[in-house]
Amino acid sequence: MRVIVIGAGLGGLTLANGLRQAGIDVAVYERDEPGRRRQGISLHLDDRGRTALRECLPPEHTAMAEATLGGPREHSLLLSEVDGELAVAHRQPLAPGHPVRARPGRQAHRPLLRAVLLTGLADAVRFGAEFTRFERRAGGTVRAHFRDGRTDTADVLVGADGVGSAVRRQYLPGVRVVDTGKRTLMGAAPLRAVAGTGLPALIGHHPASARVRGTMMALGVLRFTEPPSVAREQRLPALPASAVAEVEDYVMWAMPVVRERLGPVELPAAAWGAAKVLAADLPPALRSVVDEAWPRATVALRGGVIPPVAPWPASSVTVLGDAIHLAPGFGGNLAMRDARRLRDALVRAATGEQGLLAAIGDYEDALRRDSFPPAGARDSAASA
Ligand SMILES: Cc1cc2nc3c(=O)[nH]c(=O)nc-3n(C[C@H](O)[C@H](O)[C@H](O)COP(=O)(O)OP(=O)(O)OC[C@H]3O[C@@H](n4cnc5c(N)ncnc54)[C@H](O)[C@@H]3O)c2cc1C
Repeated sequence: MRVIVIGAGLGGLTLANGLRQAGIDVAVYERDEPGRRRQGISLHLDDRGRTALRECLPPEHTAMAEATLGGPREHSLLLSEVDGELAVAHRQPLAPGHPVRARPGRQAHRPLLRAVLLTGLADAVRFGAEFTRFERRAGGTVRAHFRDGRTDTADVLVGADGVGSAVRRQYLPGVRVVDTGKRTLMGAAPLRAVAGTGLPALIGHHPASARVRGTMMALGVLRFTEPPSVAREQRLPALPASAVAEVEDYVMWAMPVVRERLGPVELPAAAWGAAKVLAADLPPALRSVVDEAWPRATVALRGGVIPPVAPWPASSVTVLGDAIHLAPGFGGNLAMRDARRLRDALVRAATGEQGLLAAIGDYEDALRRDSFPPAGARDSAASA
């Protein structure tokens, strides 16, 4: 069996690792050039993402990823201002197994995780290759076409190409992405620059949010369990040294804002400027995480939703992750969970345990069931 994956994001790379581990031929096509992607700095990784990493990656890759997570995050904290000082006003346990609320987990440094996912896949990933369309071929294969005229043919084509998915646009043209008008400015400041404010000590490893003076800010501290450069030497020397150079503990922050209050913020410097204006009236500890932020790591995230999608007949084209469902705050975990499940389905098909279309159909049934839970099921726990 041969599989083409469009998109070298979290989902596509987890799938590619899983297929390779299972001995299935896989090629990944990525539009961006290496190192070009602005993708945010950190990620709350819950049981769904961590299980996928454990099951799809070679053991030394998983060990590297695990060693460089932050500490356990079991509560969310609500901070408020008491007599001019920030204090924890409320502490709520995160919700294990919950389909839509934050689950317990640990924080990951996103560029480092992606570098781990890419390690060992150099011969499988083609950068600078923008997918434009597919065509079905006699005999059931699928041919992918790319902007530069290249083509490639396989038994299965997977759209792991994110929210703007060109695969989904052709395959499931009825699927809508609705802009909610919400934007989130996100960034990070080195821990050493803000340690004196007392904020990192107040938060510990847990995700926190502050509602102060009419502004909301989410916060998280990433203290690497092992220094990344030491972990690389001991666990995954094949990881490029550049992936761990200058990586240090930090505080990440996020501020929601409506579209109308933001000017053009495509460039990191503009996003950082807008965040500084928003934070100007906040208490000094909160203001300093924005003022001290790395300008190039600041991004503005668009809020979007994909309304539930009706079942479609299974074929040799399928989708995963943000290409088919959006989940603010845990979409990366869902993309990796999809990748694990799709890997399992394709292995069943490759070994003859199940027909290809039946296996893809089962994967898609589970994807729709768990990604679009009915309103009544939102408060009940779901399976991982
Ligand atoms: C700032 C920020 C913070 C976030 N925080 C969290 C968090 O804490 N926890 C969490 O679980 N999720 C989080 N998310 C969401 C998470 O990043 C996404 O849900 C996740 O990246 C989706 O993975 P994916 O593989 O489906 O798509 P993506 O990671 O978006 O990857 C898609 C890839 O496809 C490529 N591509 C697109 N079009 C084409 C084409 N035509 N041809 C070839 N390649 C193409 C893109 O360049 C990209 O590399 C966050 C998102 C952002 C932006």
